[in-house]
Amino acid sequence: MRDKSLPKNYPSHFPKSKKEESEFGEGKKDILICKKCNAVYYYKSWHHRLDDYPYLSEKKNLKFVLCPACQMIKEKKYEGEVIVENVSQKVRKEIINTVKNMGEEAFRRDPQDRIISIKETNGNSKRISILTTENQLAVRIGKKIARTFKGKLNIRYSKKESTARIKVVL
Ligand SMILES: [Zn+2]
Repeated sequence: MRDKSLPKNYPSHFPKSKKEESEFGEGKKDILICKKCNAVYYYKSWHHRLDDYPYLSEKKNLKFVLCPACQMIKEKKYEGEVIVENVSQKVRKEIINTVKNMGEEAFRRDPQDRIISIKETNGNSKRISILTTENQLAVRIGKKIARTFKGKLNIRYSKKESTARIKVVL
């Protein structure tokens, strides 16, 4: 018997519309997994592990992608830059440890917030430069270093690139 809810001219193999396909293919039902760092995307944000996902028993499509942080690192991009100048040998290690700790803490809270690199340059004035995937992390690091090591803080935001550049002169 004919299904009365369907229109009379409804073809037996009605093709899915593009919209429907994308809603069911790439929409809310998919779980994205970063192939680089294993971060997992669900509930509209990135998480550390799939194990924490409460509905894992439901069949979901797993898609392997690069998460925004890994993508950013791959493309050598960053959102935050902290430059610390006039770093004396006495505080060098302490500053680096402070930065590392803050990076680990941020990463634990959100897998998208990370320190990309910590570089030391030995010129006339010794400097440390730090790149982060997230601008607020860079601002927090800059403020903490300025406060702890009595430096002069300068923060510049670029709305266009959504980056923060922080300079701390000790
Ligand atoms: Zn990743």
